Amino acid sequence: MPSPSSKSSWLCRYSSPTSMCSQVVFCRISWSPSASGQAARPETRGYNTKSNKQRVVKTPGGRAVFQVVKKKAKGPICGDCGKALIGLPRLRPIEYARLKKREKRVNRAYGGSRCAGCVRSRIVRAFLIEEQKCVKQVIAEKISQQKMATEGGKKPKKK
Ligand SMILES: [Zn+2]
Repeated sequence: MPSPSSKSSWLCRYSSPTSMCSQVVFCRISWSPSASGQAARPETRGYNTKSNKQRVVKTPGGRAVFQVVKKKAKGPICGDCGKALIGLPRLRPIEYARLKKREKRVNRAYGGSRCAGCVRSRIVRAFLIEEQKCVKQVIAEKISQQKMATEGGKKPKKK
């Protein structure tokens, strides 16, 4: 338990990146020292379940309050290979609804849904399929031309 005298230590702890204000919500339950001098632990905010995690943090005013810790966000992943998509924030699902469109995706086809490597392979695959179609068409034309030539040229050749 942090003692009230160690002011510098809890100040550092308060300003550490793990306790960023976006990740936690301050709770009004305070942790006041009891008559015996030892700080009494405040009442908990319900059960310590997965969605109701909390921790005790000292405020700059010297009070100890509960911080409600949000669940850890998994972040967006590629729908094809399952790798994490870069350039997008890692938020809880409901928080993506509050973002702007440009914050939800990167400026590319399949921007917020597939990774760059998978998009590249998709483009290459589509290109190759189209090329194959062209090649097939050309070959079919050549075969038909050959047939025409052989049918038309049989009589003059045999003469
Ligand atoms: Zn991928």
